[in-house]
Amino acid sequence: MQCSLCSSKAVYYQRYSSRHLCKKHFLRDFYRRVKRAVAKYKMIESGDKIALAMSGGKDSVTLAHALMELYGKRRDLEFVAITIDEGIEGYRPPTVEIAKKVCRDLGIEHVVVSFREEIGLNLDKMVELGKRNACTYCGVFRKYLLNKTAKELGATKLATGHNLDDETQTILLNFLNADVERLARLVPQRVQKGLVYRIKPLREIYEKEVVIYAIVNNLPVSLEECPYSRFPARAIVRDFIYEFEKKYPGRKFSIMRSFEELLPCLHKMYPQIELGECKICGEPTAREICKACELKKELGII
Ligand code: SF4
Ligand code: ZN
Repeated sequence: MQCSLCSSKAVYYQRYSSRHLCKKHFLRDFYRRVKRAVAKYKMIESGDKIALAMSGGKDSVTLAHALMELYGKRRDLEFVAITIDEGIEGYRPPTVEIAKKVCRDLGIEHVVVSFREEIGLNLDKMVELGKRNACTYCGVFRKYLLNKTAKELGATKLATGHNLDDETQTILLNFLNADVERLARLVPQRVQKGLVYRIKPLREIYEKEVVIYAIVNNLPVSLEECPYSRFPARAIVRDFIYEFEKKYPGRKFSIMRSFEELLPCLHKMYPQIELGECKICGEPTAREICKACELKKELGII
């Protein structure tokens, strides 16, 4: 199939715009949309030191590559990558290796932080000892370590690889769970003391496009799934959005636009509260003791 914009061979069919795109035009469109999202939310500003959350999965590898292509030569910006090794046997070690290779190839300083060293136990052990499910421990401690490490490295922004599919699933899930407050928190309103401002430069990019980007750029990615992965509600919402998008292309953007329209109201309804410091570790929290310390207590680590 020929590209709709030139005579080269197409590598991708963009359903929502009914265009076949060759590598050059696919990349041009991809970068344009990343730049637009970055500008819209003022994600990257002069003087920023951007910490990339680098799991070694397709999203983070694509994010690192795309940001370096677009902003890597800017002398007023700095980049550093952080990989959290949760300690998931069989699954995590190969992705840590991919993360190391990608950072080496892109010339990004890379820091690997492990649950075992920083928290005291790896995830497999937590699951064995504790009563919570793996994703609770993983989510809380990963966020905690990403923020803490980014701060220690002097980062002003923390970039994650969430794409349009992830974001629209989360938006709908929060609606379906009547968790409007969490919906409001999906886009931080301002910088909060102790929290590195989170940014999502791929939020306007389809998951499929992230995969195509990785393929056309020969990026090493692992498509392996975490052995603990089981989000039944998210999977149902994902399948629903997939079917809806298949029938009515472009509807993922509609979900995003509706959310953005509501955002000013949501932010008024749920203004960001001032965070205090955890009595145990000093990290930011809205409560006396942060969630990470609460879980550590439960696990008998502190
Ligand atoms: Fe962590 Fe795996 Fe759960 Fe993802 S699926 S939050 S990597 S335990
Ligand atoms: Zn704490």
